[in-house]
Amino acid sequence: MPAKKTTRKAASTTAKPSGRKSAAKPVVKRAAATARSKSPAAGKPRGAAAAVKRAAARAPGRSAGTRSAAKKIAAPLDLSAFPPESISQFERWICLACVADVFTRYMGMPAKKAQLEIKRHMPTLAELHADPSGRPFFPPGTAAEICPYCGSGPKAHARLDVYRIESGKPTDTLRRALIKSLPSSENQFAVLEGKATGQHAFYEWLDHVSEKLNFDDPGWLREVSLHYLGRKEPKVDWAEILRNAQSIRRSRRLESGWEVDAGRLFLAPVLFDELLLVQYLVSRSHKAGGLTLEGRHTLVELFARLRHGGYLRAVGIQAHNPSDALEQLLEHLSGGEAAVKFHYIVDRRDLLEKTKALKIKQPPKAKTMQR
Ligand SMILES: [Zn+2]
Repeated sequence: MPAKKTTRKAASTTAKPSGRKSAAKPVVKRAAATARSKSPAAGKPRGAAAAVKRAAARAPGRSAGTRSAAKKIAAPLDLSAFPPESISQFERWICLACVADVFTRYMGMPAKKAQLEIKRHMPTLAELHADPSGRPFFPPGTAAEICPYCGSGPKAHARLDVYRIESGKPTDTLRRALIKSLPSSENQFAVLEGKATGQHAFYEWLDHVSEKLNFDDPGWLREVSLHYLGRKEPKVDWAEILRNAQSIRRSRRLESGWEVDAGRLFLAPVLFDELLLVQYLVSRSHKAGGLTLEGRHTLVELFARLRHGGYLRAVGIQAHNPSDALEQLLEHLSGGEAAVKFHYIVDRRDLLEKTKALKIKQPPKAKTMQR
């Protein structure tokens, strides 16, 4: 007998207000404001929100003003409670000596003030995304031993871990709970907001998924299925379901949704056909045509397949040729120009630690240099 899976992870719980004193300085004011903007419903933190709290409690850097010497590398944020397809993460390296140089030499700031300013220094989204990154940022993933711009050593290089959360129902409550739980005494974390379109978010997601795939391993079709289903229905534990499912099939009985029957995952026709389309999109850049659970398709074949199977009609695509249909399908899948918000949590703990230990030399006065 088919067993319709309805179990879901608890995700709608919210954390209790912590009553923590806020010492937000201008640079991260937005972070604190975001955390407080909606009054959270009182209730015992459990499930996912509790996991967020526990993760925050584990994170070092909670105690303000501790000596830098004993500091260990801060534990990364634990975002395991979030739907994996809504999260991405990257790191940036910044040379503090370069920043200090700008403050003292070009802006004529005294060393002490420069140190304070560096502590407040907050990169913009444009800087975090710049490719290639310019001074004072290093290219991602390369913690150079010597700064390519000023020659300073690793003590002056700080790592910024950036966590990006796509806003939406599955993540909003969790995100607020997470931000609320973060230490704020020294502005250890900053939250930035970025706007994008559904299309932009979808293409990025496609790229992100393809990057991680090994197309020589036949298991990649399953990997894509896992990612896509995770994006489509974020609250379902697809990893667990696919671990136990020998195959993924198109259901002949379901009109919507999915079910597991005799160790096989059945998807309603529209969901299954959409999955084929996503597999095609992910793999078509790899080799001519695209590979799907139903074998390799050229665009013309895929078009015929989706039309014949009723998918195009089901999602309201009326195009008469494959390329127009593909364009409309992409619009449909991605949400097109619909606004999407990204929240970036920037971990500044390493920057704060490195800044405390930074020796800033006062450059010679401009007057002296002119003589
Ligand atoms: Zn430098």
